[in-house]
Amino acid sequence: MQNIGFIGLGAMGGPMARNLIKKGFPLTVFDIVAERMAPLKAEGAGTAASCKEAAEKCPVVITMLPASAHVREAVLGKRGVAEGIGKGSVLIDMSTIDPITTREIAEFLEKKGAEMLDAPVARGVPAAVAGTLVIYVGGKREVFDRTRPILAAMGTDIYHVGDIGNGEVVKIVNNIMVAVTTCALAEALVLGVKAGVKPDILFEALSSGSGNSFVLQNHYKNSVLKGKFEEGVFPVDYMLKDLDLALSTGTKLRIPLQFAALSAQQYIAAGAAGESKKYHPAVIRPLEKLAGVEVRSEA
Ligand code: NAD
Repeated sequence: MQNIGFIGLGAMGGPMARNLIKKGFPLTVFDIVAERMAPLKAEGAGTAASCKEAAEKCPVVITMLPASAHVREAVLGKRGVAEGIGKGSVLIDMSTIDPITTREIAEFLEKKGAEMLDAPVARGVPAAVAGTLVIYVGGKREVFDRTRPILAAMGTDIYHVGDIGNGEVVKIVNNIMVAVTTCALAEALVLGVKAGVKPDILFEALSSGSGNSFVLQNHYKNSVLKGKFEEGVFPVDYMLKDLDLALSTGTKLRIPLQFAALSAQQYIAAGAAGESKKYHPAVIRPLEKLAGVEVRSEA
């Protein structure tokens, strides 16, 4: 099996790298926060001192970093992937970033004879741990086919969605849907509770209605109803980053995104109210405070 470099060992990257080790892939890891490498080293991974070194050692390099600027720095910056990547090697960026940045980086790597796929993921940390992510892949079909077994170690639902950058486009569209639904449910449920229905009864009744959704059954059931808005799991700030990506793409393409824009304002309000680092369904909290009610289970 070929050696794989894994850069960015945070909430998502850590468990994704662990799944590659479990499936028997030899791994070399790097994170600018050195202590994030220690648990993977203990499980058998080698370590690199820089992104460049990871790329020199491995014909396939995966990046799982916060945002466009981090990917640009890790790949094109000093001691970055581009300085170490070999001819025929592949960079798979699994971060959620701007598709224009993705395409610029791919163009740069192509001049060095290297390939790139964008492969952002959906479903969040529990799926990253379980190896059941959804992965949206953009790039050459032949490179996708070649690297599919690597992706299959981290996800169960893997879609090749077209040329380079298209994975990011699908991911951004997915997150518009999640953000808008999360915000719409916030005001609907706060109204329901304020108007006198108990949260548990409201949740049960709505679960069989035509307004039921993945967000109700996951984000609301497991986070809002339980009052669990822990830090370190896809925070308000990251959803805002993805809505900004959607809005700037919409502006470039002259597509009005009115609901995405309203949702972004609601996430900004939550950030201003001190929820920036909290799990993103915390977007409901300013509304709860305004209404003087909480959508929490009594169970
Ligand atoms: P995170 O902030 O937990 O982890 C990012 C890691 O990257 C950190 O360990 C950080 O030290 C490291 N890093 C930053 N710059 C670096 C550099 N130049 N070189 C090496 N390491 C560097 O983020 P996360 O929650 O793991 O998210 C990663 C990406 O996945 C984001 O784009 C996010 O939008 C996306 N995503 C997250 C979730 C989720 O539920 N958390 C779900 C789907 C997609």
